[in-house]
Amino acid sequence: MKVSVDSDHCRGHGVCVALCPEVFALNDDGYAEVQSPEVPADHASAVLVAVSACPEHAITVS
Ligand code: SF4
Repeated sequence: MKVSVDSDHCRGHGVCVALCPEVFALNDDGYAEVQSPEVPADHASAVLVAVSACPEHAITVS
């Protein structure tokens, strides 16, 4: 599974980082970035929770 954050929609709430800090991090501007686009299998469920929890619907998995 791959994950990406749409920087045009991210507003830096940090919900994703709180849910899965192994995959998401806030950059110096305060917006989310993925640390690696390929999600480790043991973090897949947390990433899917973050997809649902992001208030801006900025996280996409494929
Ligand atoms: S939860 Fe969504 S809006 Fe908030 S930092 Fe993460 S990607 Fe950005």
